[in-house]
Amino acid sequence: MSKNKKGEKILIIPKKIITVDCEDRILSGQAVEITKNKISAFVPISEINKNSYDEIYDAQNLILIPGFIQTHIHLSQTLFRGLAEDLPLLEWLRLKIFPFENAHDEKSLKITAQLSINELLLGGTTTLLDMGTLRYGEIVFNEMIQSGIRGFTGKCLMDVNDLFPEFKSTTKEEISDIQNLAHNYHNSEDGRIKYSFSPRFVLSCTEGLLKDTKEIMKDYPGSIYHTHSSENVNEINEVRKRFHKENIDYFNSINVLDDHTVLAHCVHTSDNEKKMLKERDTRIAHCPSANMKLGSGIAPIPQYLREGISVTLGADGAPCNNNLSIFNEMRLASLIQKPIHGSKAIDAKTMFRMTTIEGAKALHLQDEVGSIEVGKKADLVLIDLDSYSNNYSDTDESVYSNIVFSSTNENVKSVMVDGEWLVKNRESLMYDQKEIVSEGKAELKKLMKRI
Ligand SMILES: [Zn+2]
Repeated sequence: MSKNKKGEKILIIPKKIITVDCEDRILSGQAVEITKNKISAFVPISEINKNSYDEIYDAQNLILIPGFIQTHIHLSQTLFRGLAEDLPLLEWLRLKIFPFENAHDEKSLKITAQLSINELLLGGTTTLLDMGTLRYGEIVFNEMIQSGIRGFTGKCLMDVNDLFPEFKSTTKEEISDIQNLAHNYHNSEDGRIKYSFSPRFVLSCTEGLLKDTKEIMKDYPGSIYHTHSSENVNEINEVRKRFHKENIDYFNSINVLDDHTVLAHCVHTSDNEKKMLKERDTRIAHCPSANMKLGSGIAPIPQYLREGISVTLGADGAPCNNNLSIFNEMRLASLIQKPIHGSKAIDAKTMFRMTTIEGAKALHLQDEVGSIEVGKKADLVLIDLDSYSNNYSDTDESVYSNIVFSSTNENVKSVMVDGEWLVKNRESLMYDQKEIVSEGKAELKKLMKRI
């Protein structure tokens, strides 16, 4: 299926616009004008001059929202969905995920990236932060470029691996690879694609690699330091044994925590570590489905939010979820806190902001995306809230709960990234569904033989 052309001037006429601006305005009777890749104006419906546009998308039954932002994803793992069930983190890595990722070749990596991006786009995710994998990083970059999605990826760094020793590289190779990849891809496609420096987790990296990576990052402004931390009790026990410190305490002691660091999970943290996260303005990517499925625990999100620590959401990898849907994550992230902290914990509007403007802020993209405002990039989603399983009340107050608690990927109708339609009327304009699924199955069969 071929990519559609970027419209010069597009007008979208929705039923309502959920702006997620600083006043959380919800607009009715307004259309959104897009010029090239940016939002150029709000136009009152009564003042539309139809001759001024290359395309008019009449969506008066749909709600326009900013594209969702997921801050922790593994594009390399989607092919392994359903193949690593009912295991705790370290076993899950040792027995399944490390051997699977180690068996990737260029073809299997390409198709898993395609399957992931396809699923994310159909569910309204327009920006992602990917963890990458050990080899063939350029394949994922090229797929992200081709697909039209916005985001960060990079080589997943591992120069130690006691769980599955074949799956690692040398420190020297890791450093040389990330320098090449960051040089070639950071800020490509007019800044749509950025580099994330991604040490996998503390148990898979030497201290030298963790520190050198942070140093190299200084040459690439706007890049992100992305790793896992404090996910599981056995993992943090191992960290204590090795470093005589808590996980975040250790990261802090080697100076890798700052406002450009995103830590996935942070389920098990001491009060002292919470203080460090706040002081360093470090960002947390919360992955509630993965934390439940691997039996890791429930992250103290209300406490982080009370402290003013940045918390955003990600589906993590398909084998520990087993979906990449932001709707599942929003719903679960809110619901799992309510039995502990009461029914008021993390209301729908807070949750919706966490996956839009707060996601943008966590990645330092708030001047470009995360809300619908004039001058921002046109990363937009049209969502249908008139299905049989949505709210029957049409009030502005009920719109957030309608999206967060009652919607699924199926409600997403059309998706635009950087002014370009990538999904229209629930049809991907980028990928042929049948073709990628059948190619995924074929590549998975071959990959299994390589283990
Ligand atoms: Zn992860």
